[in-house]
Amino acid sequence: MNKPEANSDNLTVLRRSQHNISRKSISESALKVLYRLSKSGYRACLVGGGVRDLLLGIQPKDFDVATDATPEQVRELFKNSRIIGRRFRLVHIRFGRDIIEVATFRSQASDSSKTELNEQGRILRDNTFGDIEDDALRRDFTVNALYYDIHDYSLLDYVGGLEDFENRQLKLIGDAATRYQEDPVRMLRAVRFAAKLGFEIETSAAAAIHENGHLLAVVPPARMFDEVIKLFHSGHAAKGYQYLRQYNLLKYLVPALDEWLQHEPSEMMLDFIDQALVNTDSRVNTGQPVSPGFIFAVLLWPVVHQQANQIQSDRQKMIPALVQAGEVVIKRQVRHISIPRRFSQMARDIWSTQPRFLRTQGKQPQRMLGYTVFRAAYDFMCIQSLVGLVSTNLAQWWTEFQQQQAPIEPTEARRKQRPRRRRRNAD
Ligand code: ATP
Ligand code: MG
Repeated sequence: MNKPEANSDNLTVLRRSQHNISRKSISESALKVLYRLSKSGYRACLVGGGVRDLLLGIQPKDFDVATDATPEQVRELFKNSRIIGRRFRLVHIRFGRDIIEVATFRSQASDSSKTELNEQGRILRDNTFGDIEDDALRRDFTVNALYYDIHDYSLLDYVGGLEDFENRQLKLIGDAATRYQEDPVRMLRAVRFAAKLGFEIETSAAAAIHENGHLLAVVPPARMFDEVIKLFHSGHAAKGYQYLRQYNLLKYLVPALDEWLQHEPSEMMLDFIDQALVNTDSRVNTGQPVSPGFIFAVLLWPVVHQQANQIQSDRQKMIPALVQAGEVVIKRQVRHISIPRRFSQMARDIWSTQPRFLRTQGKQPQRMLGYTVFRAAYDFMCIQSLVGLVSTNLAQWWTEFQQQQAPIEPTEARRKQRPRRRRRNAD
């Protein structure tokens, strides 16, 4: 980046020749949306993570567009679009599997009757339209508030984001405590971006996390699920988890694990969590599937393991003990983060399958291969073997056994295993 040009009091502009964002790295769908809006006389910019990641030279996960067209005007320009959202009204424009999110410039308007706050100052709804500068000011971090204007390919900075970008700083726009009180999820976003970008959380933004962490308790559990999974499936879960501990946020997300951590946890179990998250990161980064069920199975394993051991120390009865402990632990967990039933069931199945790996005689191993949860439970067991919780010989045995066997069709085995559940709702 070249030295920016100060345009007015608040605005810094980098012209096309002064930054490294090339249209070649912007998706065709995003460009289509930007150009059509622009040709129809509207202002159209790329904003948020897309701009930030392009500046860093990483491929953005998605592209967000901001415009002065209202949602209805955007809707009129694109047949393939629909208006979504309650808290913010956005337009989703679909191109095959690709969705471009278009948001109308909004202002925070904290004095306006259109911004609804609850008693803790949390924003419930805010749909006041504003200009581009208002729109920049209501965003979370300065590096997330840079605009790439399709009109002349310039970069617009109203909040000092370019400087913070150069210094690798995650700085909240405005007063840190107030911004967390408005939306406590921003604390989780700080941790996620710090892990993902390798940026430092700026001092006052970091200090305010320690003071406001408890506000996460008021975030609806369904939103917590989305945010927590974004963090653990970001490809930087190991680092993110370290930050959650460092910032003392884990107790608001997974309190049972936090309590376990306070009581002289076993090294092997600590290693297990780290190893499992490293494994998840490498799966994400190589495009292999991952599941929230696996993440919760990992995070709650020390607690479930400990409680099951208290219920029953005899290995023969370990399975019902794990089922019982799993039930109790999940029930407590979903008060903080709602876990869709299919994922909590997966975590339970991963846990209760673990003792079955000890049985390598008779028909049981063959049957195991047909379990829907087999693959995840096997990966889980292998990670346990890496840290000494399970013998490496046993993991080796199962690896070789699978190579020798033709697997049973999972659907057939599932039918035999237990009747299909109808309910698909969240715990
Ligand atoms: P990524 O997509 O890589 O997870 P992102 O920064 O694009 O990161 P999104 O959730 O896609 O994150 O949000 C897009 C932009 O919307 C953000 O960059 C930020 O400017 C704004 N934004 C999102 N969530 C919030 C929030 N809770 N408070 C304020 N602004 C937000
Ligand atoms: Mg994004």
